[in-house]
Amino acid sequence: MTLDDIRLACTLGMVESMRGGATTIIQHYKLPFSREHSDVVLQVAEKLGLRLVLARGWADQGSNAESPASIMDDLERLFAEWHGAASGRIHVANGPLAPWRCSAEMLQRTTDLARRHAAVTHCHMNETQAEVAMTVEAQSGLRPIEWFASLGLLGDDFHAVHGVWLSERECELLAQHAATVTHCPAANMILASGIAPVVKLLGQGVNVALATDGPASNDGQDMIEMMRLAAYLGRVSTLDAQAMSPRQALDMATVNGARALKRTDIGQLEIGAKADLALLDLNAAHIQPIGNALSALVYNARGSDVDTVCVDGRILMANKQVSALDEDALLAECRERAAHLMRRAGIVP
Ligand SMILES: [Zn+2]
Repeated sequence: MTLDDIRLACTLGMVESMRGGATTIIQHYKLPFSREHSDVVLQVAEKLGLRLVLARGWADQGSNAESPASIMDDLERLFAEWHGAASGRIHVANGPLAPWRCSAEMLQRTTDLARRHAAVTHCHMNETQAEVAMTVEAQSGLRPIEWFASLGLLGDDFHAVHGVWLSERECELLAQHAATVTHCPAANMILASGIAPVVKLLGQGVNVALATDGPASNDGQDMIEMMRLAAYLGRVSTLDAQAMSPRQALDMATVNGARALKRTDIGQLEIGAKADLALLDLNAAHIQPIGNALSALVYNARGSDVDTVCVDGRILMANKQVSALDEDALLAECRERAAHLMRRAGIVP
C-alpha cells in the first residue's frame, strides 16, 4: 500500500470509529513498512482530533520478521517524537503481534522500554486453541499468559487482547497482576474463535475492556453494537439471562478502557475529567419509549444514533457531520483508491 492508501484507510477507519461513538482508539498497527507509514496514521488522528494510542506492531520471529535493532529504533523514535503529542491526545504503546511470533528477549526489551515511558503493552493472544497450542509446544508446556508472567510482562500496563482460551491458572494470573483482557465479541464470532470467559473474568476482578478488533477480523467499528454483543455473549455462554448487566457492558466500553490505559481522567463524566463525550439521538422508533436509559443505550441504540462527538472539549462531529473533512469526498476517494489497489494487487483485471 502506498502512503496515500494508508492515509485514506486510516481516515476512513477513524471516521467510522468516531461515528460508532469512540473518542479514544488503540490501533494495533500491523504494517510498519517505514517511519512514514507510521507517521501518516498519527497525522490523521491529529487532524481528526481523536485520542489515539498507536500500539506499534512487531514480530521478530517467523515470516516477515523484523530485526531487533529495527524494532527498538522505531519504538524509541516513536516514543521520542509522538508520545504525548497533539496536546497529549496521542500516545505510543508496545505492540507485540502475537506470542508465537515474538522472542522472550524482545518481549522483555520492548516492555522495559514501554515502562520507561509509562506506556502500555498490547498483544493479541489466547485467541484460538491452535495458537495456544503453538506456545505450549514452544515454551515447554507453558500457556501464553503463563509464559508472559514468567517473563515479567504482566502488570496493570498489560493488555491481553481476545483472551478467549484461558485456563484457570491464566485467569488467576491476569487477576493477580491487575492486567486487562480486551474483549472483541464480534471478531470472536466472525472468526469462530470461541467465547471469552468475560463473566468469569469480571467476577474474578479482572479489568475487561471492550473493542471491535481491526477491520480484517470485524465487519464494523461500532462500539455501541459491541456493548450489545458483549451482553448477549455473556448471557448465552452462561445460560443466564441476568449474566451481564447493561452497566457492566457500558463500563467495559468506557471506564474499563480508560483503566487499561492507566487513565482516570477519561472514560467517565466527572468534574475535572477531560471533556470526551459521545451524544446520541435517542428519539427514534427503535429506541422510544425509554423505560431505562442504560438498557436503551446498550440494547436499543446503534452507532448511527451517535449525533455529536467531543474530545478534549473540542467538537469533532455535530449533527452527524464530521468537522475536520468532507466525508462524501473521502468516500469517493476511498472507492477510487480501493479499485486501484485491487487492480495493482492483481485481484481484478
Ligand atoms: Zn485480533
